[in-house]
Amino acid sequence: MRDMTTAVIPVPSQASVPVAGGGSFPVRRVYCVGRNYVEHAQEMGFSGREPPFFFLKPSDAVVSVADGETAPIDYPPLTKDLHHEIELVVAIGRGGRSIAAADALQHVYGYAIGLDMTRRDLQAEMKKQGRPWCIGKAFDQSAPIGPIHPISATGELAQGAITLSVNGQPRQSGDLNQLIWNVGEIIEHLSAAWTLAPGDLIYTGTPAGVAAVVPGDVMEGAIAGLGRLRVAVR
Ligand code: MN
Repeated sequence: MRDMTTAVIPVPSQASVPVAGGGSFPVRRVYCVGRNYVEHAQEMGFSGREPPFFFLKPSDAVVSVADGETAPIDYPPLTKDLHHEIELVVAIGRGGRSIAAADALQHVYGYAIGLDMTRRDLQAEMKKQGRPWCIGKAFDQSAPIGPIHPISATGELAQGAITLSVNGQPRQSGDLNQLIWNVGEIIEHLSAAWTLAPGDLIYTGTPAGVAAVVPGDVMEGAIAGLGRLRVAVR
C-alpha cells in the first residue's frame, strides 16, 4: 500500500513572484478590487461611490515578469474584447483578520505592478445575467505581475503616477492618490470578509482608459517607484 502522503498525481507547482533585491514571494490567493478609481467607475457606468467589492483569480493565473523582460501572454479563448487594466498590487507578508486600516501597512510585505487582464465581453454578459465574473476575470495568464518591491525599500506608496501604454501610445493614466478606497481601507474591508495570510496578493483597481489589445500588441505599465512592466500579447 502507498504511503498516504504520496501524491497520486503530479504535484501542482507553487506560483511565486521574484522579489526585487533577491528572494521569491510564494503566492497563496489573488484578490482584486473592482472599480476603485472614480473615472474608471464612471466609464463602466457607475458613480464611484459604491462600497468596495472583491473578486479572486486563481494563483496559477499569475504570470511573473522579470525586470527588463517583455513577457508573452497568449490571447485567451472565447473573447473578442481582451482589455488591459493596470493596477498597483499589494503583497501581504503578515496575515490577519479584522485588520483596522490604521494597522494595515504592518501587514504589507511590498508592492508590484500588475495587469488585471479582462475578457470584457464575457464579463459584460455575466453582469447582464447576474452571474459570477470568473469567466471574464479568472482565466489562464490573466494576472501578469512584475517583481515585488519590499515596502522597507519603497516606503508607503500613497501617491504617484500609474500609467499604461500600448505600442508606445498612452492608454491609461492616473495617480495612486485617486484610489477611492486606499490600501489600508482595502485591507480593512478584505480582512473583514476573509482571513488574510502571507502570500496573498491584492490587485487594487485600475484608473480610467481601459481598452482592448490584440495579438502583436505590447503593453507597458509603470508605477512611480516600481519601474516598468512589459507584456506582449501573442
Ligand atoms: Mn481590475
